[in-house]
Formats: sequence, structure tokens, C-alpha cells
Amino acid sequence: MLERTLVILKPCTIQRALVGEIIRRYEIKGLQIIGMKMMQLSDEILSDHYAHLKDKPFFQRLKNSMMTTPVVVCCMQGVNAVHTVHAMAGATNGREAAPGTVRGDYCMSMQSNIVHTSDTPENAVAEVNRFFKPEELFDYQLAFFDYLYANDEF
Ligand code: ADP
Repeated sequence: MLERTLVILKPCTIQRALVGEIIRRYEIKGLQIIGMKMMQLSDEILSDHYAHLKDKPFFQRLKNSMMTTPVVVCCMQGVNAVHTVHAMAGATNGREAAPGTVRGDYCMSMQSNIVHTSDTPENAVAEVNRFFKPEELFDYQLAFFDYLYANDEF
């Protein structure tokens, strides 16, 4: 099933000049970028986004780290895109993330770990709606779509 998922390129990615490098990985995999923008996150939106971590000792530090620079938020579309994009991120701790994953290849940190990716289809819907207005998402035909999938796969 065609799904939409959220990717946030974190401040560490902006500061380390890895934006193009990371987006390229999703493009060459075959994910379709249907939304992309730079935005400055606020404590309020991060409190919603990281609500599942509100009792952790690092909660405020994590939110502060996400506000040090603007971030790049992307909405990627593809068949089962939520699982695929989340798996490509790798384990939370970059030191333990498998080589070949985004975190495994580009970072050494638990906190400054390059990307956020939605973890379930339900969370992906909520997260895409949290960070994008409907008019910021674009429905367009990928010219090479028929070469990405067999016609019984979507
Ligand atoms: P993931 O981003 O892999 O889905 P979580 O939802 O558990 O992981 O955590 C969200 C983010 O919080 C992580 O990506 C990481 O930046 C940060 N984080 C998680 N655990 C820690 C920790 N122990 N110390 C510092 N930051 C953490």
C-alpha cells in the first residue's frame, strides 16, 4: 500500500552539511519526495512530537538540541514507506546502528543521530499532519513509477 512517512533531518545533519547526502539516500532507494521544507521547531511542537519521552531525564535536553538550528522536514511516499524508511534509519544509538543504515553510516551519537523517521503507519499520519499543511504536500506522478514496482505491489 502506498504510504506517506515523515523524515526530519536534525540540527546535527544541517551543521555537518549532510542534508544532500541523506536526502540522496532516500531518492536513490526509490522513495518519492512529496513534501520538503526548512523550519524552526518550537518547544511546543517538540513536546507533542516527543510526548512518549516526556518522563525521560533527557527530554528537555533533546528538545533543546532540536531547536539549535532549523531542521529540514520531508514527507516521503512509497509502498510500505513507513517501515522501509524507519528501517533505513537504523538503531537509535548511532554507535550501535548497523553499517549501511543512515545512523550506522553517519553518526556516533544516541541524541545527535541524523534523522527522525516515523515508526508506525498510525504515527506517520499524525506526524505528517503535525509538520505539514495539506497544501504543502504534492500529489504528482513519478515518471519512472512503473519501473520501481511490479503492478501487483501497490
Ligand atoms: P527513534 O528516534 O530511534 O525512534 P526514540 O523515539 O526512542 O527513538 O527517541 C527519540 C529521540 O530521542 C532519538 O532519536 C534520540 O535523538 C533521542 N534519545 C533517545 N534516547 C536517548 C537517550 N538515552 N539520550 C539522549 N537522547 C536520546
